[in-house]
Amino acid sequence: MVRKYIFVTGGVLSGLGKGVTTASIGLILKSLGLNVTAIKIDPYVNVDAGTMNPYMHGEVYITEDGGEVDLDIGHYERFLGINLYKRNNITTGKIYLRVIERERRGDFLGQTVQIIPHVTDEIKEEIRSVGKDQGADVVLVEIGGTVGDIEGLPFLEAARQMRLEEGVNNTLFIHVVLVPKLTTTGELKTKPAQHSVQELRRIGIQPDVIVARSSEPLTDEARRKLALFTNVPYNAVLSNYDVEYVYEVPIILENQGLSRILIERLDLKVVNSKPQLDTWLEFINNLKHYEKEVKIALVGKYTSLKDSYLSIIEALKHSSAKLRVKTVLKWVEATDIERGIIDVNDLVNDVVGAIILPGFGSRGVEGKLRAIKTLRESGIPTLGICFGLQLMVVEFARNVLGLVNAHTTEVDPNTPHPVVDLLESQEGVIYKGGTMRLGSRPIKLVVGTKAYEIYKSEVVYERHRHRYQINPKYIDLFESEGFIVSGYSDEGFPEIMEYKNSRFYLGTQAHPEFKSRPLAPSPIFTEFIRSLLTQ
Ligand code: GLN
Repeated sequence: MVRKYIFVTGGVLSGLGKGVTTASIGLILKSLGLNVTAIKIDPYVNVDAGTMNPYMHGEVYITEDGGEVDLDIGHYERFLGINLYKRNNITTGKIYLRVIERERRGDFLGQTVQIIPHVTDEIKEEIRSVGKDQGADVVLVEIGGTVGDIEGLPFLEAARQMRLEEGVNNTLFIHVVLVPKLTTTGELKTKPAQHSVQELRRIGIQPDVIVARSSEPLTDEARRKLALFTNVPYNAVLSNYDVEYVYEVPIILENQGLSRILIERLDLKVVNSKPQLDTWLEFINNLKHYEKEVKIALVGKYTSLKDSYLSIIEALKHSSAKLRVKTVLKWVEATDIERGIIDVNDLVNDVVGAIILPGFGSRGVEGKLRAIKTLRESGIPTLGICFGLQLMVVEFARNVLGLVNAHTTEVDPNTPHPVVDLLESQEGVIYKGGTMRLGSRPIKLVVGTKAYEIYKSEVVYERHRHRYQINPKYIDLFESEGFIVSGYSDEGFPEIMEYKNSRFYLGTQAHPEFKSRPLAPSPIFTEFIRSLLTQ
């Protein structure tokens, strides 16, 4: 079959859930028996998402090959159940860097290097080569931002050209728009969507499918209006209304005939004539029909933007569904602990477990350390992730080992007891972009520990993103008090530590959340939640 390209654009405003829509389309195609890959285009000038504050764009997602990518790649991986790579996230920065490098090398000698054709050619080449290298029948390309943004123009132009070059039957344009509801009249308003499609047409793209985001299902009238004014067949105007779980989106789109539209329009040669969604439906059913509720605290410093910890929230859902429980989240802002707005002692009666979230820098650290002390002393099951583990180690050093002013050198470079210190491989690293210890790395587990019991394997691979490590010089001291190392890195520093005197008090240097999938939850998250059920 000739490779097919589906472009997903967005209109009216950002944050509409285009990523989930793209991932949902991917799942439907995959369940028809097709090989699918997905590319996220981010028109910002950063080369990758790694140098951005999670407050701006939400969490930085980590791929197997150590890409620091947009969180939409996480949606794709979770819905498609596959691994993607740094290449699957294309940014303006990456494209321009490459074009300018080629110009300097002399690849374009004699020519004036321009956005069209040089930049657009580079974009098209990269989209095609990702599709080819990943053996995809269908390549989904989500163009971030909103139609009309100046920075998105070269990408939309490249997409327009691809329709011309690949042919109408091999390309499809899906436009995701907001259809707001007026609170005064209760009416669904289609005008912003109409304008956004006009804008798209102005640059030469006529959408084939409209996905309308709204708080409730589109009325027949709104659907007719959208079809008429956007020049899209009535049946190809799909309603993507608010649902409890994003995992329901593929189902609601399919119920409106998505797979039929895709098969017909792209002339797809499918293995299954209808999407096979049984296991997916079972997962949703487990999410919704739980037998028990548990409340846990999430202690961090970016808690006002929940997207900062998106993969952790999703991993908790995957494991919760497997165990048929609902995990209720209590966000605990570390700086609020420091300011006395939150009393850590109150946590003890309020939650049955806690996660110490990943992070960087000194803000909120003392608040987190206070929370950790309370959690450890009261025996509440606690999971520390990356910075979470590092701070569990600092707290233990100070309050159990008596190492006054012990710290991570990330926060206190002059601490007398650097129990967490810069990775050797980081010494002399000056450039901040893409230079952390990133991606999938082996962890050697110690037989007989809880970590070994959880993974049931001597070596496991998890994804990483850090510059600091637990200082191996202190291992004996920690172990003498029961805080043992249950996993080591290849380089020999602790990857997982657990406190023997507690039901579940475990921290990991890795980020197991990035490998959790709806149908294959992370073992660490599952065991953490299981430990909450046995009290
Ligand atoms: N700031 C810590 C480090 O660089 C932890 C990073 C994280 O939590 N991802 O090692």
